[in-house]
Order: sequence, then C-alpha cells, then structure tokens
Amino acid sequence: MSTAELLYQELQHVAFGSGGPFSEKQCLDMAPIVDEINALKKEKNAVILAHYYVDPQIISGVGDFVGDSYKLAKDAKGTNADIIVFAAVKFMAETAKVLNPDKTVFVPSKYNGCSLADAVTDVDVRRLKAEFPEHTFVCYINTTAAVKAECDVCVTSSNVYDIIERLPTDKIYFLPDRLMGLNVRDELARRGVKKDVQLYDATCYVHEAFDVDRVEKLRGKYPEVRVLAHPECAPDIIAKADFVASTKGMMQYLQDTDYEAYLLLTECGLASRAEIEMPDKKFVGPCTECRYMKSNTLEDILRVLKQPDNDDRVEIDASVRDGALACIENMFKYAEMKPSDAPTGD
Ligand code: SF4
Repeated sequence: MSTAELLYQELQHVAFGSGGPFSEKQCLDMAPIVDEINALKKEKNAVILAHYYVDPQIISGVGDFVGDSYKLAKDAKGTNADIIVFAAVKFMAETAKVLNPDKTVFVPSKYNGCSLADAVTDVDVRRLKAEFPEHTFVCYINTTAAVKAECDVCVTSSNVYDIIERLPTDKIYFLPDRLMGLNVRDELARRGVKKDVQLYDATCYVHEAFDVDRVEKLRGKYPEVRVLAHPECAPDIIAKADFVASTKGMMQYLQDTDYEAYLLLTECGLASRAEIEMPDKKFVGPCTECRYMKSNTLEDILRVLKQPDNDDRVEIDASVRDGALACIENMFKYAEMKPSDAPTGD
C-alpha cells in the first residue's frame, strides 16, 4: 500500500480538530513529506515522540511513540536513538533531554509554550520554598526543567493522585495547576487522606474552557453519553464526569467499554486519535484545541531533521539537570511503587 493510501486509511475517520476528515487528495499531497521524514529518521537514527494533542497526520504519518506525558517520558528514557524529535511542547522535550543528556533533542515548533509551564519560574519556586519551608514541593510535569530542579517530585495527570497520597508527608505545595490542585484536594478527601495541599494560581487555558451547561445539554441530547474528563478541568466539570483520567487512561477506558457515545473533555487531538483507533465508536463535542500543540507541523519536523536552527535544539545546564533528574526519578519511584510499599506519613 502506498504512503498516501495508508494515510487515507487512517485519516478519513478524523472528524474532530483541525484538518479532518482528510480527503484522498490531502493524503496524496502529504505523502512526499511523510516519506522524506521517515527516510531521514532511518538515516540519522532518529525517533519522533508525538503527544496525543498534535495533529493526526503527524501521529499517523511519522510518529514512533505516541501517548501522554508519562508514557512519552518513559519512551524517551528507553530509546536507543541518537536523535529525539519531540512533537509536543518545550517542557516535554526538556524532560526528554534531562533523561538523555547525551542525545540530541529537538523541539520542532517555534510556538512551543504552555499556559501552565509559562506561569511559574525557578525564582517563584525559591520564593515559595522560603515561605513554606516545611512543605514538600510537588510540580506537575508541565513545568520547565529549571522549576523541576527546585521541586522534590513531579507528577503527571496519570499519577498525580496516587503520588501525592503516597508521599510520606502531610504538607504539600502543588504547582502550577490550581484546578488540578483543587481536584487533588477533593480526591484526597474522597480517599480519606488528610493533607494540607497549598496551591499556585495557574490554569491550562484549554481545559479551563469547558463549561458545565454545555455538558448538561449534551447529556440531554445523548442520555447514554459517557463523559470523560481530564484532571486539568475545573472541579465542577470533574463532578459531572463519569470517568476522570489522563489521556492514556481515557484511551484505555474507551477500549474497555462500549457505550452509545462519548464526550472527551480534553484537547481535540485525543478525540482525533480515538476516531482513528476506534472508528466504530461515536464521539460528540465539544473539544478544544491547544494552540501550542497544534503549532507542530510536518514541515518543521522535516526542517529540524535536515537543517535545524540553534533554538530547535534543547539544552539543559548541568546544574539544572541534576536537580530536575532527581525530581523526575522520584516520580518514577513513587508512580511505580505498589501501594503496600508506600511509606506512611505522620
Ligand atoms: S493543553 Fe494546556 S497544559 Fe497542555 S500544552 Fe496546551 S496549554 Fe499546556
């Protein structure tokens, strides 16, 4: 089967997000650049890590590893490639570089920020540590390497509740996502765990945008709809959801269940991917696009493989790297701990 036919086989099912559903002509037009990228990957021993939120033609055409932040961090840790191209945003590429200091890591998009990662600096964290000297600093993975270097442990949306519960301390400062932090407080209360969780004041502009009235209207229209929400959504949205999980957790839930329709309260890229992997399932709106994730293009991926600019390359100072690595390694340690091995707090 030709590259264009393979692309069309997958992308014709995409209705959510930018660009879909894709026509045969669009797939035919994209095929040469997809072929060129895949040939360069082999020639240079490069791999492409693609977050679920990037455009579906990147995932289907050139992605070697696809997933959420936690899975991609593990994929970055395990790869034997010399070059990692991270089709996502810069903080994720920084995590890959911290885990692979000897590999070349590129972030192809020039517009590679994040409303969470951009909201807090290492200077802010040092100030807060002076203000809350008894607190353990837990950062969401959506932070820069410099911020991670100042924190004790990082978490992703797939492990935030369990790690905070397992930490052997009852004083936590969680940053930067205030909405996720409010959900952590609610979840700890549901689990009967008492911890003082202090919060920073930043939000993901994509997940903050979902509104309860719209969700309720959709429930009225599709009484059997299952509502899946990401922990970056506001607590009133989480309270309306049937299932709360990271993007990987949502994909697993979709594979394991068979309801009449699903509403995915996260970035549109997940619905696009789910439509490709599960074309028989029905997805209903709304979803919202992340302008940072959607700024990744096949053209930029080709550019960094052929002739990268200096600012495409992700570099981390050695002094920052050691602290950030300890923070990320602590995440792996606590995430993979069996509940029975978890230290107990006071
Ligand atoms: S979806 Fe939100 S948290 Fe994720 S990269 Fe975009 S702005 Fe950041």
